[in-house]
Parts: sequence; C-alpha cells; structure tokens
Amino acid sequence: MDFKSKIRVVEDFPKAGISFKDITTLLADGQAYAQAIDACIKMLEGVEYDVIVGPEARGFLLGAPMSVLTKKGFVPIRKPGKLPYETIKHQYELEYGVDTLEVHKDAIKAGDRVLIVDDLLATGGTAKAACELIEKLGGEVVGLAFLMELEFLNGREKLEGYEVFSVIPFE
Ligand code: IMP
Repeated sequence: MDFKSKIRVVEDFPKAGISFKDITTLLADGQAYAQAIDACIKMLEGVEYDVIVGPEARGFLLGAPMSVLTKKGFVPIRKPGKLPYETIKHQYELEYGVDTLEVHKDAIKAGDRVLIVDDLLATGGTAKAACELIEKLGGEVVGLAFLMELEFLNGREKLEGYEVFSVIPFE
C-alpha cells in the first residue's frame, strides 16, 4: 500500500513553515489503518518486548491496536494532570520552553522490555523524554517504532544507542 498517498499534508500548521503530516485521513480508511498497524508490527519482527508504551495522543492510535494484535500490554504516557493514580514525571526542553510527560509509577516493572510507539519521529525530543521516563521506572527500552519519520530533522541522532524503526520516511 502507498501509505503516503493516505496521509494529508497541511502546510503552515500549527505554525508558519511547518508541513504537518495529518494521519486522520489514513485512520479514516479502514484498510489503510489496518495495513499500517500490520506494517508496524512486521517491521519489529525479532524485537522482544513485554509492553507497548504510547505518548498522548497519536501514540495511542498506533500503540493500542498494536497491543491488541500482539497481546502485549499498553501503557499510556500523558501530559501532566491527566492520570488518576500516582505518577512519575519527566521534564524536557522544547525549542521554546519546557514540557512534561507523566506515567503511572506502577505501570512499568523493573526489567520490563518496553517498545515505545508514536505516529511520527521529528526531532526526537518526545521519544527521548519517553525513554527517560521508562528508564526511571527500571524499564528497558528495546525499541522505538514510528509510522512516519522526518529524516531531515535527524531524530535518530538524539536517540543514539536505541533501536529506531519507521514505516514511512519523509526526506
Ligand atoms: P519530536 O519530539 O520533535 O520528535 O516531535 C514528535 C512529536 O510531535 C510526536 O508526538 C508527534 O505526534 C508530533 N508531531 C510533530 N510533527 C508532526 C506532524 O507533522 N504530524 C503529526 N505529528 C507531529
């Protein structure tokens, strides 16, 4: 399947100069969505993981169906104040300012092999923060899987030392 043709590119969103890759058009096509999830699972053949972790919100849209099909647990990573039980937090720097991610402190057990899933790898800042959060709980990040990768932003450099996988490259 030509996944790229299913993704809508919106210029100047959320701000001028950004060419936003909008997966809502792919998600609305049941065949394309199912095949995209299958492609994500297939590219991870040989990676052994116990649990899938997905950052809010598009990480849920890919990570949760992958969890159901692989019968691995799913753990959400969220923005502050959304999770009801005790959490640990990790603060990370954005281009302008800081952001924080949270996870339930009992969601990952020491030694768990964790796969992090998100829709898109850009600079790698979000994914790196997710890795640090998981490692604070003693989890081992065995891979990071993305549907799309903006190769020109060199996110893989920020994730050096980790195994990074993506289905659709954008040059
Ligand atoms: P990074 O932290 O710079 O790698 O940005 C990745 C995060 O921003 C992911 O959680 C993405 O969902 C989101 N993101 C950045 N650019 C886009 C885009 O063009 N389409 C969809 N999500 C994006």
